[in-house]
Amino acid sequence: MDRDYDVIVVGGGGAGMSAAIEAHDAGASVALIETDSRLGGSTALSGGVYYASGTSVQRAKGIEADTPDAMFEYYMTLNQYRVEPSLARVLSDKAAGGLEWLIEMGVEFTAENLYSSGVESVARGHGATGNGAAIAAALDQEVSKRNIDVALNARVQQLQIKRDNGAVTGVILDDAKIQAGAVVLTTGGFGANPNFLHRYYPEATAHGDWVWYIGNPNCLGDGLSLGEQAGAEIVGHNRGLLLTTPNFKKELEVYVPGWIVYVNREGRRFVNELAEYAVMSGVVNAQTGGSCFAIFDEVTRMEAKPDPLYADLFASGMVSPNWVSNVLEEQTRAGKIITADSLLQLAEKAGIKPGALQSTVDKYNADCDSGSDSMFFKTASEMKPVRTPPFYAVEIRPAIVCLTSTGVRIDKRAQAIDSNGMAIEGLFAAGETTGGVLGERYIGGGNSITNAIVFGRIAGESAAIQAQELDSSNS
Ligand SMILES: Cc1cc2nc3c(=O)[nH]c(=O)nc-3n(C[C@H](O)[C@H](O)[C@H](O)COP(=O)(O)OP(=O)(O)OC[C@H]3O[C@@H](n4cnc5c(N)ncnc54)[C@H](O)[C@@H]3O)c2cc1C
Repeated sequence: MDRDYDVIVVGGGGAGMSAAIEAHDAGASVALIETDSRLGGSTALSGGVYYASGTSVQRAKGIEADTPDAMFEYYMTLNQYRVEPSLARVLSDKAAGGLEWLIEMGVEFTAENLYSSGVESVARGHGATGNGAAIAAALDQEVSKRNIDVALNARVQQLQIKRDNGAVTGVILDDAKIQAGAVVLTTGGFGANPNFLHRYYPEATAHGDWVWYIGNPNCLGDGLSLGEQAGAEIVGHNRGLLLTTPNFKKELEVYVPGWIVYVNREGRRFVNELAEYAVMSGVVNAQTGGSCFAIFDEVTRMEAKPDPLYADLFASGMVSPNWVSNVLEEQTRAGKIITADSLLQLAEKAGIKPGALQSTVDKYNADCDSGSDSMFFKTASEMKPVRTPPFYAVEIRPAIVCLTSTGVRIDKRAQAIDSNGMAIEGLFAAGETTGGVLGERYIGGGNSITNAIVFGRIAGESAAIQAQELDSSNS
């Protein structure tokens, strides 16, 4: 067959490197094309949490009973069945295999770093020692051990498409036509592209100039544009993961200290403030105005120190200690924190229903005194009363874009699907470039890396098989 490679993989993050490795190991000649000066993408910047059930790490921690079936049920239930079941099934079934594959490559996942990273009752969030950088480095090493051609600083913006049947036959790179049996799109999400955020993720852009993206700056949504060139359907509109922020600085804020009291504009608490970020942004977005206020008093402000619970995360730079006395003082002076001498005045200034705020705080203070959060079950030892003026209110919005999950529709083999529901010959996609795998609700820390690894591997193998099939049909 007259082609340069059996498989071309576009984008060298977690999904792309996994695809390249599997395509190679399935016997294909492979090129991996990456726009950045190094491989890794957002995968290398990530926390490195991997979501899976039925793993050796769970068993090492004494968790014997967890299964892919249980993960699938949880996935579907949390997403109210508004996610493609066949893809959720594959993700649940293959997640453990993907984790063991990373472990074989030398990535360490310890029992100590295994935790409940969503709202599941069993620990499935596997934290990699060395975070996402360690996962990316291990994959990069495996790529370099193989005969895979890697092109860095090379951005693919055009596919070659056969006129008669719409099959994808390669890519165009700087006017050079590179022919392939199959192409795999793994360019990550579109968080770094404001136009695409407006078009595909309006829930994020509703927060105006608060919005910023924490991932790789090359994640411009090229995979969606490339997929559309070949007629791929774009699905999973308005999906991704937002993280809440007080917008003090453009710094990541995943967790807040337990002394914070969240109230909505109706003056009511609505959530356990320590709930996992997987569900928190959705809950906050559902409040009037898509935001809420964090309330505290002067005693708490003066005592606010970095939470020892998150010491490792602060040290890793994954979380910024915003909720400490000097920062709070500074932000009050800067006008980003509303302050008043009474709760009624505070409510009026912030646009919160005053009487309701007073009764919410009275109830909260009584719960602090009795040592139990009677309505939201927050860890009582973390609670502090709101009694001593001046009082403070900080607006909180889910405005940090962590990842996007609107993208190319794929089937169980990671082959791209067009708007008529037909598989597009020669085109595969995986990871954040795809839509339909991740639902409206992030199921827990690790959901997206598992998606990248599981479907990256499948896409690589499927692409190699399709290239081989083309060979046989042409011979
Ligand atoms: C700070 C942070 C923490 C996170 N923590 C976690 C976590 O702990 N667990 C979890 O599950 N998820 C986490 N995520 C999300 C997760 O990291 C990503 O969703 C996932 O790694 C995406 O993998 P990917 O391979 O699809 O894309 P990426 O890893 O982003 O790779 C895409 C690659 O494609 C390249 N590219 C883009 N366009 C082109 C083009 N036209 N031509 C060639 N190359 C191109 C990019 O440069 C990039 O290298 C986190 C994200 C961030 C930003």
